[in-house]
Amino acid sequence: MLRIVENFYTLQGEGPNIGKPSYFIRLRYCFMKCHFCDSKYTWSNTNNDSDIILLTAEDIINYCSNIKYEYEGCTDIVITGGEPLFQENHTDLEIMCNCFKDKNITFETTMLFDFDNFLVSNWLQNMGIIRNKCKLYNNNSYIFSISPKFDIKSYDNINSQYNSLDIENIFKFYSLREKINKNIGDYFYFKIVFEYKMKEKIEYFLDNYVYHENREYIYLMPETIIPFNKDSGQDILNRECAEFCKKKKVNYSPRLHVDLWGLKRGV
Ligand code: SF4
Repeated sequence: MLRIVENFYTLQGEGPNIGKPSYFIRLRYCFMKCHFCDSKYTWSNTNNDSDIILLTAEDIINYCSNIKYEYEGCTDIVITGGEPLFQENHTDLEIMCNCFKDKNITFETTMLFDFDNFLVSNWLQNMGIIRNKCKLYNNNSYIFSISPKFDIKSYDNINSQYNSLDIENIFKFYSLREKINKNIGDYFYFKIVFEYKMKEKIEYFLDNYVYHENREYIYLMPETIIPFNKDSGQDILNRECAEFCKKKKVNYSPRLHVDLWGLKRGV
C-alpha cells in the first residue's frame, strides 16, 4: 500500500535539475523531526489517513497510467516525501518505478529508510538492491537526491533506538568515499540545507568525509521558507552560503519553488 499525500506537476526547485518540468509524487511518513522541514504535513498527524490517497498494487498501475496520459512529454518523475523510501513495502515502490518506463526518476531521500539497516556498511548495498530491481525492467535513469541532516536533534526518533548515534556516525553514514558510483543510482547528489549554526559541521564533513573530486555532487541551499525579498534578510544568508560554496568548491542551489510560491502546497 502506498500512501500519497499529494501529487502535482511543477518545476524542479532545487539541485542540478532546477527549473526542469517534473511531476512530483509526495509520499507519507518521515521519522525525522527537522525544525526546517517544509513538508511537516507528511509526518505530523500520521494517524489520520483521511486526506491522502491510498494505493494498492493494482491502483498504482492505473494511477501512473493516468499521470503518463495527462502529462505526456514530461520526462521527469520526482518521488519525494516525507521520506519516500520509508514505506511498509518496497515492492509498491518498485511497481511505481516500473510503471514509469522511459522517465527519469528522482528519489528525494535522507537514505535513512530502514532502522534495522542503519549501519554504515549496509546502506549503499540496500540502495543498490532497490535500484537494480527496478533496472531489471526499465531503461530509465535513477537519480538519488540525498539530503544529509547534520542537526543531531533531527535524529531524536532514531536515537531512541540507537543510543550510540552521534554526529560522527552520521558523517560516516553519509560519507561518499570510493563506494559512491558503484552502488547507487545512475546519478546522485547531496543536497544540504545551509544554516549559520550548521556551517562548522558542514565544513568538517566536507573536509573529512568527501573526496575533493566528489565536490561536484554537493549542492548547498540556504535555509529559507519565504520568497526572496530585499527586506527579509534572506539575501545575507544567501550570500554567506554563496561565499561558503566558493570556498569549499561545491555548488550553490537556490530554492526556486520557495521564491516562486513560498510554502504553498501542490504547485
Ligand atoms: S528528513 Fe526531510 S521530510 Fe523528514 S523531517 Fe527532515 S526535512 Fe522533513
